[in-house]
Amino acid sequence: MDIRLGNGYDVHRFGVGDQVTLCGVEIPHNRGLQGHSDADVGMHAITDALYGAVARGDIGQHFPPSDPQWKGAASEIFLRHAVELTRDLGFAIANVDCTLVCEFPKIGPHSEQMRAELARILAIEIDRVSVKATTSERLGFTGRSEGIAALATAALVKI
Ligand code: MG
Repeated sequence: MDIRLGNGYDVHRFGVGDQVTLCGVEIPHNRGLQGHSDADVGMHAITDALYGAVARGDIGQHFPPSDPQWKGAASEIFLRHAVELTRDLGFAIANVDCTLVCEFPKIGPHSEQMRAELARILAIEIDRVSVKATTSERLGFTGRSEGIAALATAALVKI
């Protein structure tokens, strides 16, 4: 059995705004996340986990931030590309697990919608998609609410 694991990590800083997009779900908030694309930190971490599992670089190589065509882009474009790449290489996605690290907004009320949205893009069953959240006990940049961090793991199986 040929099993591949990948990890992903991303951070985006808070700036002016009234909503954040996390794992494809728009959440009203008193600030927004800054970034070249829609700054969906969770989806970026998952995208990098998929690239990592098949050893095909990272999101910055496939979608350079210097390229104006990705300005304000929906991160679904990036995730979809990674999903198609893993398929083209003959792998099925066994599961994806994502952890969002922030004090606010609270993730719990939105996690089911996030799982559903990710499962749709990944084209796998929802019980193969996990979205968790933790605070960092008000320590560090996430604890001071300067930004949001995300970690992700993906497991792939060769078919
Ligand atoms: Mg990012």
